[in-house]
Amino acid sequence: METESNRLHMSFLPLMAQGHMIPMIDVAKAFATRGAKITIITSPAFAAIFSKQVERANQLGLEFHVQTVRFPSTELGMPEGWENTDAVASSQNLSKFSEALTLLREPVLHILEKHRPDCLVADFFFVWTTEVAARLKIPRLVFGGTSIIAVCAEEVISRYQPQKGVSCDSGTFLVPHLPGDIKLTRNQLPEHLRCLVETDFSKHAGEALESEQESFGSIFNSFYELEKDYADYYRKVMGKRAWHIGPVSLCNSDTADKVQRGKEASISRHECLRWLDSKKPNSVIYVCFGSLTRFSSQQLVEIANGLEASQQDFLWIVKEDKNQEQDWLPEGFEERMDGKGLIIRGWAPQLLILDHESVGGFVTHCGWNSTLEGISAGVPMVTWPMFADQFYNEKLVVQVLGMGAGVGSKLFAMFGVGSDLVSRDDIDKATRRVMVGEEAEVMRRRAKVIREMARKAVAEGGSSDSDLTSLIEELKQHKAARESI
Ligand code: UDP
Repeated sequence: METESNRLHMSFLPLMAQGHMIPMIDVAKAFATRGAKITIITSPAFAAIFSKQVERANQLGLEFHVQTVRFPSTELGMPEGWENTDAVASSQNLSKFSEALTLLREPVLHILEKHRPDCLVADFFFVWTTEVAARLKIPRLVFGGTSIIAVCAEEVISRYQPQKGVSCDSGTFLVPHLPGDIKLTRNQLPEHLRCLVETDFSKHAGEALESEQESFGSIFNSFYELEKDYADYYRKVMGKRAWHIGPVSLCNSDTADKVQRGKEASISRHECLRWLDSKKPNSVIYVCFGSLTRFSSQQLVEIANGLEASQQDFLWIVKEDKNQEQDWLPEGFEERMDGKGLIIRGWAPQLLILDHESVGGFVTHCGWNSTLEGISAGVPMVTWPMFADQFYNEKLVVQVLGMGAGVGSKLFAMFGVGSDLVSRDDIDKATRRVMVGEEAEVMRRRAKVIREMARKAVAEGGSSDSDLTSLIEELKQHKAARESI
């Protein structure tokens, strides 16, 4: 039975990035729903972005607190408030960002010493948190916010270096030992794996992996049935501890919860729903590339022309980018697409859109959250990976799950900067494959089956629900053992 004395107090330290913070808050909600008291530790800028989400959790009767730590931007010669990931993405300054994460050790330790939580769930990139948790005699759980296939593939590629066996960067190699016949090219790998050199990022990631190795284990926003082979590989071959408790976005069943994730949406929920309600089931393709990806004006023109050529209704999210030309849209595009396409400039209420019955396809950069949200909504995907874990996630969607078609992305490009141009014809072709005809029907049927699997996983007694239960039990035992000393 839950009593105040055995109640868990958990601190969460998310990375200051929408794609990490959004799922981490949902993870925290999953624990809070089981009675845990939650403290989120973040910077003031991020606390402001997420205040409504936190407020909403408290309205639902969950106990959420927020502690802020100043982000050391000015110490590193960056402007105050620079931790906003949009700024990091446009300044391309990942090494300064890593440095700042290291500088957060002291202020975060101070908060933890004051509040004495029973456990710390910290993002993969906070390298020092395993050592800090050990000092406080509490478990550190790692949350990387990525898929299991990505973690396994990256480990295998680092260890066996199959990319060395091809003579050119565009030659295909097989990722050995991993199920699923996963093939990639060197061009699709991050610089440190493509060129086998150490970069600032790979150094930081290497340290993060060591820190993960020493931690209590990892929480994955995924579910066993979705990535069974890779989940088994991770646990049995890589020998690491993991709990799969996702898809965590499914805890947002209410419209208000679906709308209030991350930044304030740039369209009102009523306007968005009115537009979607006016469309037939499965007739709209939703186009969104997450929070970090940026495109050149030339690429945006290709997307516009590709969507027009596909003759599908579309809802297209275009991120504001100061480096962007203002008038990049093809002449007369908005007039021609009036009633057929809606462009939202800024932030979309993605869960609300994906869950709407008129949405029949999703053009995605394959960020893991977007991928899993598409899977949870049962929507087939046009895959357009660019960086991070996205090329591995594409393999899962297209090859393993059979619920997507790729635009033919060939080049790893951080934040999409310098990516190869995808032509209007390729966009048109992939969109049609996912939206119309027999192949689209097969994908749609498969996507609906997988959606049901996702729902079962988080329902009572499902695989994710059971993993969450066993993790909570372990954490409570740890707390009891610590307190009995
Ligand atoms: N998202 C959103 N509205 C947008 C863009 C993104 O709600 O306009 C959310 C999306 O639902 C997902 C997260 O932001 O939860 C993006 O994470 P993902 O891993 O897909 O991509 P990243 O932004 O990390 O590249």
